[in-house]
Amino acid sequence: MKTIDLGGVTVDKIVENPGLWLDPFWLFHNIDQPTIDRNLPWMQDFLFDRATNLISLSFHSFLIRANGFNVLVDTCVGNHKTRPGTPFWNQLAGDRYMADLARHGLTTADIHMVMCTHLHVDHVGWNTRLEDGRWVPTFPNARYIFGQKEFDGHAARQAADPETPINRGSWADSVLPVVETGQAELVDFDFIHTLGLEERITLLPTPGHTPGHFCVNVEGRSGQGLITGDAIHHPIQFREPHLVNNGDMDVPHARATREALTRRLADSGELMLPCHFAGPTAGRIRPDGEHFRFEFLD
Ligand SMILES: [Zn+2]
Repeated sequence: MKTIDLGGVTVDKIVENPGLWLDPFWLFHNIDQPTIDRNLPWMQDFLFDRATNLISLSFHSFLIRANGFNVLVDTCVGNHKTRPGTPFWNQLAGDRYMADLARHGLTTADIHMVMCTHLHVDHVGWNTRLEDGRWVPTFPNARYIFGQKEFDGHAARQAADPETPINRGSWADSVLPVVETGQAELVDFDFIHTLGLEERITLLPTPGHTPGHFCVNVEGRSGQGLITGDAIHHPIQFREPHLVNNGDMDVPHARATREALTRRLADSGELMLPCHFAGPTAGRIRPDGEHFRFEFLD
């Protein structure tokens, strides 16, 4: 993804893994082979591998920069995290993410704000890093913005069953350590962060995948873009909106939110900044007969 200039605000992609190849039957519980086959004609090679019948997701953060203020939205899986149930996320030790940050001229000390659209394992990982056997915030000077409703929802689940690690262990190693240092800020959906005279960040409530999921709207002087978290995982869902992601916590609500968001972005023509689309990632939703299709930016 090339740098997107919204007028006084830029957005870049900071990549942990540009294309993780997954079993589509794991990613979408209710997919079947005929559904896959009827979508093969339009899916680009970076979205689906016909030879192996595997579907790809990208894992990246978005870096928002305006007037010297740097924001990271969603922080992927992270390094050295123990995730025994998902081998492709277990004990990662990659250097691409930090190298990507450095390529944009930034160190961890330069990030002023971290935002998490929701608190699932692949959106909070780089919140913390391992130091002398302890999890500490990766970004020492950042406030971490978590949704109050999202936080309360997961906290209640953990309280109901204290012995079982929730969110594949990420609640304990990637969320609570940030709360302990006082860097977490729990916000409502009306949260606004002003970046300039007209430049700002606002939230769009999109619950369903998780109880307090939000999208992050980035507004500049000449345009805006919506970071959509896990409201939608893969462009196949524009044609097959019934596909249930394995992380959707409230399936009917997640589907209703996904379809409403699709219509909203198709009607407005607003730029979509998806958290898991591979390839160029950003693009626009276009009506296409009874369905919709995704038009990637160059
Ligand atoms: Zn995700």
